[in-house]
Amino acid sequence: GIDHLSDLEKLAVLGHGNGGTVYKVRHKRTASIFALKVLRFDQNATGIRQQAVREAEILKLVDSPYIVRCHAVFNSEDDLCFAMEHMERGSLHDVLLVGKVLNEDIISRVALRVLKGLHYLHGMQIVHGDIKPSNLLINANGDVKIADFGVSRVVVGERDAYEAYMGTCAYMSPERFDPEGWGGDNPDGFAGDVWSLGVVVLECLVGHYPLIRYGEKPDWAALVCAICFGERLEMPENASPEFRNFVRRCLEKDWRKRGTVEELLVHPFVNKSCCGSTAQGMVDFCFQ
Ligand code: ATP
Ligand code: MG
Repeated sequence: GIDHLSDLEKLAVLGHGNGGTVYKVRHKRTASIFALKVLRFDQNATGIRQQAVREAEILKLVDSPYIVRCHAVFNSEDDLCFAMEHMERGSLHDVLLVGKVLNEDIISRVALRVLKGLHYLHGMQIVHGDIKPSNLLINANGDVKIADFGVSRVVVGERDAYEAYMGTCAYMSPERFDPEGWGGDNPDGFAGDVWSLGVVVLECLVGHYPLIRYGEKPDWAALVCAICFGERLEMPENASPEFRNFVRRCLEKDWRKRGTVEELLVHPFVNKSCCGSTAQGMVDFCFQ
């Protein structure tokens, strides 16, 4: 195990997020490579910090092949650090950013892995709450895993707050904008993770954020309006019937009628994948 933060040596910056920076680090004694996420805290935000520490303890209990492993948590004076499994190929966001449009075989495999990860988390009574391309990471084998639940939500923004807020809101379900729907008779929020998966799956096929017109500058009102009331789902011409139905079940605006993780785990769209695409296929397609 990793006993002290000083056992880790910083090698490079892997990326920046809402509340901090992720570094590639080496464990000096064993030469193993990890990703170290460093979250900085506002000095006054003791409540937020306590909540983050509590969530971090839960993170350490999570152990699934579909979820990025958290090996250690360090709570130092002005930051909170997580030593995570290093995901060599970065995030799905990086793949989409360079203009890759994924094919249905690959998308179905990604979707199945995310569903299995959500099934595991929901079984532990954990709502992810922030499923989006930058939180779906890819390792050297081409396996996709879910990262960043809980903790990222409670951290104070360091980056441009508006941009970060919009980035997170873009994948949020309609009920999360509805003060009566959220926390009312929908106290758990599991259905929100399914919605977010639907947005990601559609984005992978169309190649850009799918709920507002491409190129439109997404201001807050337009975004919320598109999520809560927009009926226009830009399905690509070539999308298969299984793909269309899967996305529709995820993007059902009424969370009561939305597909559940259990339903979608046996959906024909994701069950084609067991014979089709492989993890290596993901690597070949996205990184060659
Ligand atoms: P948010 O703060 O809302 O989660 P984000 O996902 O963009 O936004 P971070 O989670 O801090 O921000 O991650 C920043 C970037 O660092 C990611 O987009 C990813 O490219 C990289 N990264 C994060 N965790 C790992 C990891 N375990 N292995 C490799 N790269 C990682
Ligand atoms: Mg993240």
